[in-house]
Amino acid sequence: MRQPIQPENWIRPQILKLSAYAIEEAEHCIRLDTMENPYQWNEALQKQWLEILQTTALNRYPDPKAKKLEQQLRQTLSIPDEASVLLGNGSDEVIQMLLMTFNQPDAAILVPEPSFPMYYQVASVLGMKYYSIPLEEETFDLDMFALLEVIHNYNPALIFLAYPNNPTGNSFSVTDIEDILDTSNGLVVIDEAYFPFSEGSFLSRLKDYPNLLVMSTLSKLGLAALRLGFVAGHPDWITEINKARLPYNINTLTQLSATFALQHYSVFMQQVEQIKKDREDLLKELQTFPQIKTWVSDTNFILFRVPKARLIFQRLKQEGILVKCLDGAYPSLSNCLRVVVGTAQENQAFLKGLRKALQ
Ligand SMILES: *Cc1c(COP(=O)(O)O)cnc(C)c1O
Repeated sequence: MRQPIQPENWIRPQILKLSAYAIEEAEHCIRLDTMENPYQWNEALQKQWLEILQTTALNRYPDPKAKKLEQQLRQTLSIPDEASVLLGNGSDEVIQMLLMTFNQPDAAILVPEPSFPMYYQVASVLGMKYYSIPLEEETFDLDMFALLEVIHNYNPALIFLAYPNNPTGNSFSVTDIEDILDTSNGLVVIDEAYFPFSEGSFLSRLKDYPNLLVMSTLSKLGLAALRLGFVAGHPDWITEINKARLPYNINTLTQLSATFALQHYSVFMQQVEQIKKDREDLLKELQTFPQIKTWVSDTNFILFRVPKARLIFQRLKQEGILVKCLDGAYPSLSNCLRVVVGTAQENQAFLKGLRKALQ
């Protein structure tokens, strides 16, 4: 008789300990938990896009370098000419390529927390040393004293700074980030996933800091379905990271669709302006609840604290509204919920549900 299969005898211990990255399923719910742009394209634009897709030869491999798309990205987002660019299947894949490239036996990464969970997830899968330093309570600023100490003591190969930060929504101080860039011998990766909604970008600073990489994505702009992320930086770094990239990682439909979309960038920027305006309206509304604490946001979401967040989360869900419950995710996020700015109608439904849930 054959022995039963025993995965635990074969799987790496750090994988056995992990949970798969979970995304809540919620049919028939208004989804305000993932940071999507709620708007679609008008009919004329959809028609033009479909015409382009119609000519695609699906029997052929994609352009391995996605040259047209890279050129369009450089032009639309003003990526400096001196910088090299590496494209990923979402910035999630860029994080994976970065960590695979730097994962030497003693290499460590450093992340101020709470932040984007994929840095930890990928580091754990690879068995990489991971140091985290809590952000300051309430303000969610960088704790520079503690960060600089880790940099001095452990010389991390990579430091990830989400700018603006997810899930807190704030942008760290530029001078603090400059101090980290000046102090670190390893790479500092600034993750600008929320660039459409925030003012500052470090893209123009690439020439000032040889140890700076700027990572970004089109997901939050309104193209989450396409999975397109990128990292820009000194060619010497990008050449090495590119060796960890699987060939053809950007499929043809994404290459064509993203290039087309970026040629109509003003459409997205109008949507972004609307989302930013609605964000301020939503924030004002939330501030009228005496039991709620809110944080200002440079992103397309708002973090807020309510008494009994888990109960409020469940009640909202019963009302057909899904937000993100962050209670328990990190000590400084106790009783925190995160809501994405939807359409005006969705935001009203959320506020109505919240009013009811708080009764
Ligand atoms: C959403 C998000 C990403 C991932 O973006 P994808 O390109 O969709 O993989 C990366 N970093 C931060 C901070 C994010 O919030």
